[in-house]
Amino acid sequence: MANLFQSVRGFNDVLPADNAIWQYLHNTAAEVFAAYGYGEIKMPLLEHTELFKRSIGEATDVVEKEMFTFDDREGQSLTLRPEGTASCVRAGLEHGLLHNQQQRLWYAGPMFRHERPQAGRYRQFYQLGVEAYGIAGPDVDVEIIALSARLFRRLGLKDLTLEINSLGSSESRAAYRAALVEFLQKHEASLDADSKRRMLSNPLRVLDSKVPTTREIVKDAPSILQHLDDGSRAHFDGLQQGLSDIGIPFVVNDRLVRGLDYYTRDVFEWTTQQLGSQGTVCAGGRYDGLVEQLGGSSTPAVGFASGVERLILLLKAQGADLPTAAAHVYFCTLGEDGERAARKLAEQLRDQLPNLRIVLHAGGGKLQAQLKRADRSGASVALILGGEEAAKQSIQVKSLRNDAQQINCNWSELSGTLAGLLGL
Ligand code: ATP
Ligand code: MG
Repeated sequence: MANLFQSVRGFNDVLPADNAIWQYLHNTAAEVFAAYGYGEIKMPLLEHTELFKRSIGEATDVVEKEMFTFDDREGQSLTLRPEGTASCVRAGLEHGLLHNQQQRLWYAGPMFRHERPQAGRYRQFYQLGVEAYGIAGPDVDVEIIALSARLFRRLGLKDLTLEINSLGSSESRAAYRAALVEFLQKHEASLDADSKRRMLSNPLRVLDSKVPTTREIVKDAPSILQHLDDGSRAHFDGLQQGLSDIGIPFVVNDRLVRGLDYYTRDVFEWTTQQLGSQGTVCAGGRYDGLVEQLGGSSTPAVGFASGVERLILLLKAQGADLPTAAAHVYFCTLGEDGERAARKLAEQLRDQLPNLRIVLHAGGGKLQAQLKRADRSGASVALILGGEEAAKQSIQVKSLRNDAQQINCNWSELSGTLAGLLGL
């Protein structure tokens, strides 16, 4: 009972101060995606469970233990989407967007995974995702990485590392898998319990283990890059060439794998040292087999998803210049004449300065109490209008964040004065 009126564990509220940052991030992303010709798609939060089983893979952590799955009233098994790619392919197929076409799509929205909540890891989290269909690459692999780099640059994020790897074709990966299992079996006694289990079900995931002793062991594991087929090798070379051409630095990390089964060939992550073990802010790669696997014709595809909460944690950690939700102006009023004149004036100011955020005091009270509210609101300027000012069509303008003198100005000059003070 005690927790009934608290949010469900791992599900968070986002309050106005943070929403200003979310909106800024979302708008910046939408601009950058549009700059590369990507169109927005919105998919539902709920899908048939089978979609994720078939796409992400039965032996992945996500499907094995992280999905929010339930039977609805008709007894069909539904799942809150743990990621966007499967839904995007499903939607693309359903609406005939993928057959013999090129599509550049992006989406944004909440995803759900039953993981252990901690900083940068939640049960409802928000992703920005980008997917390109019908282009075999590596040109478009370079394109989506350039797009992600531009987004992070625009946001002013620093010290991100681009790590890339190739997982090869499913055939070359099978050969690598055998070599890896052989190696892991030799070291089985020293592996952690999870990795022992994964060694047979999903051995590549052992490379991604966060357990220090296991990490030490896999340092000596055979490299997937030694097992690449010629096509994947050429593709990976093309990616590196393309990134170099446009001056995007990268690190080849042959231990980089992805947690979902559908990836092939190029994969990449943007990582930071500043968020502990939740240091991946963006992850993606090629998934040429998925469209066919979900019933479409063979269609090359590549995409990424970026975690919004982690991007925001990083922006804050780096002291980036972030927007606030605070109003610019708090409008104090005295007496009925002052109040009525202020109401009209505030509406006029909103007409004249569409970006102005102005709070009109409500509820009456003494000037001192109103100014206290003005200060607490975070506004930079207070306006003060009483009956005396109203009679003269004038108003007091008081800076709240510096020692500038309070000035008295005419109503006709007010919007110009505010625009100047606030830099609007
Ligand atoms: P991790 O290794 O951190 O669990 P992942 O490989 O499971 O990540 P993806 O499925 O590739 O993650 O999702 C892409 C991005 O979404 C991640 O890089 C991360 O920024 C974000 N993300 C994934 N899971 C969570 C979560 N539970 N909470 C917050 N963000 C998440
Ligand atoms: Mg995960």
